[in-house]
This record gives sequence, C-alpha cells and structure tokens, in this order.
Amino acid sequence: MQFSPLSNWKIKTGFPFIIAGPCAAETREQVWNTAEKIKPLGVHLFRSGIWKPRTRPDSFAGVGEEGLKWLSEIKKYFNLPVTVEVANREHTELALKYGIDVLWIGARTTVNPFLVQEIADTLKGVDVPVMIKNPIHPDLDLWIGAIERIYNAGLRDIIAIHRGFFTSEKTKYRNKPSWEIPIELRRRLPELPIITDASHICGKRDLLQGVSQKALDLGFDGLMLETHITPDKAWSDAEQQVTPDGLKKILQQLIIRQTSSNDPLFRASLEELRTSIDKLDEELITIIAERMQYAEKIGLFKKENNITIFQPERWNEIVETRTLSAKDKNLSPDIIAKIFELIHKESIRKQTEIMNSKEADGDTVI
Ligand code: PEP
Ligand code: MN
Repeated sequence: MQFSPLSNWKIKTGFPFIIAGPCAAETREQVWNTAEKIKPLGVHLFRSGIWKPRTRPDSFAGVGEEGLKWLSEIKKYFNLPVTVEVANREHTELALKYGIDVLWIGARTTVNPFLVQEIADTLKGVDVPVMIKNPIHPDLDLWIGAIERIYNAGLRDIIAIHRGFFTSEKTKYRNKPSWEIPIELRRRLPELPIITDASHICGKRDLLQGVSQKALDLGFDGLMLETHITPDKAWSDAEQQVTPDGLKKILQQLIIRQTSSNDPLFRASLEELRTSIDKLDEELITIIAERMQYAEKIGLFKKENNITIFQPERWNEIVETRTLSAKDKNLSPDIIAKIFELIHKESIRKQTEIMNSKEADGDTVI
C-alpha cells in the first residue's frame, strides 16, 4: 500500500503533527474559547467529538449536527483545520456537508468491519483525509483491515492513531500502550503516518508528558492531546484533558530528536556498536541452539524413564535463579523471566514432540 506522506496533505502539517481540542464539543463558547487559546501554539488540527460513543447510555453523547456548525465557524475564523469522529454513513455525510477537513474513526468503530466498510463506501471518490484509531483490543490485523477498507475506497491520506488497548491487567494507564503493536504496524506499513493519542492512553493528565515524549522517541509522527478551556468541568474525559496552558507546557518540554544524522563520526561509531551487537546476537542464537539440544536430550531421557515433561519445581528454580542473576547484572528481572518463559515454552514443545514420536526410543531425535 502506498500512502501520501503528511507533507503532501492539503492542510498544513509539520513535525510533530499536533492534534488538539476537547474530547467533545459542549457549547459554542467552549469550543471557540479553546480554539482561540490553542491556535497560537501551532496546533495543526482542531479535534472535537460531536457524536460520542459512550460506554453507558446515560452519559453525555455529544451535541450532534449543531456542533458541526460551530466547527465550521472555527475553521473559517481561526484558519484552523478541524476533525470529528464519524461512526456511520450519516455522520460521514454530515461531516462532509459541513466541510470538516479530516475525519477520524474511533476505537469502538474500528472493531466493526461492517461500520468501517459503510464509512469506506460513503467515501468512495471523496478526497478527504481519514485517521483510523486502533481497535479497543490488541488486534493488529483488525486495525490493518480497517486501514485496507478505507484504502480500497481510493483514499491515500490516511493516518493510524495509536490510542492504547483495553486490558484486564492492572496498569497505571487507562489503555495499555503496548508499543510493540504500533511498532509492528510501522514495520508492515512503513509509509503510513502514525500519531499517538496520549490522552486516551494515559487517562490522567500527569502521565501525558512521558507518553508524548516516548512516542516521539520511538519515531512516531505526532500527538493527539485532548485540550479543554476548563478541563475539570468537562462533560467527558475530564481527568485526561489539559488546559491550553497545560498543552503549551507539554509542547515546550518535548525533546525533538532527529531520525538519523549525516555526521560521519556519529555514523561510524554507530556502525561499530551495531557490529558488536550483531556478533553478540549470533552468539546468543548459537547458545540457545546448544541449550535446546540439551533440552532434547532430557526429553528423550524422560521418555525412556516414563517421566512427565513439565517439572514445576525445576521451572521455579530456573525462574528464581535466572531473575536473581539478572538483578545482579542490572537487567530487568521481568524481562529476563519473559525471555526464559519463551525458551521454556520452546523446550516443552520440543520435548512433547519427542514424547509423541513413534520412532524407536533412543536412536533418532538428537
Ligand atoms: C475520543 O477521541 O474522544 C474517543 C472517543 O476516543 P477512542 O475512540 O480512542 O476511545
Ligand atoms: Mn475523549
């Protein structure tokens, strides 16, 4: 798939690409006052929900079409492009009718291929940029599927928005970032711009700076930051929204790094360090292969002696000693435990294969 780079978009873009504005449009004054304060900060796109997908039916569900009028006024008066969330054909047609510059598909819509297809069908032959949030749960294929549906309708100005994932684990975030998922998306679709919606990842405003910085350090293209003139009084997502001044502080404190450097000295040193890593990785693979051979020998031995594959005491001992040793060497015990879990899983798979093999004991597998 070939996407247009952000720099080719009709609206003004830049690095980082900043989308800000309230979670939801509540009143004409609220969106107007917010836009007036954030326009001078260099925000590229003004966001505001008009139709809000709420978990419970008694929550504020958005002002609807009336809000589109307010946004088209903001667009004209402040010369600030605007974006709204659309979740079906009717929303999409109305947003286009009011000249909304960019559409976005929310996490609760990306999960539904019927709705994404309905939006894609409505957009056939229309030249409007579309931003597609990740689905609520960590399913990269579903996210890519939604991108493909919009792409197949002929649109090329597409952005993926990473807004984190629902998890039943206890984390400090509202939605777990699982950075490996947008990183894998970048590997699979290298030209697709990816923006981080730090607000819906964090759920609390004091976490925004760290997540925003991490997004830029990982090379993503920009940020979505919910901004409200009086966030504590917001009708939705109050805790994660910042004031225009709060937004200004976050943007001022961001450290912008280059994706590469032409400095020959830097490049030579980097190359040297990478060569050392390549060599160590090769050794690591050789050692893992050697370890697997021992695991296979043990598998055969267990089979001959009719002993079960999984020995919980041995596994506990491995986890305890390896994480202790990791701590000693200043490595994260959690990460080392995870690596050993994978290695152990593979040993068990190999030993199960040996256990179930029909061949005569003792003379084949190793
Ligand atoms: C939003 O951006 O306000 C929103 C509803 O987000 P999400 O679809 O990520 O939940
Ligand atoms: Mn919100």
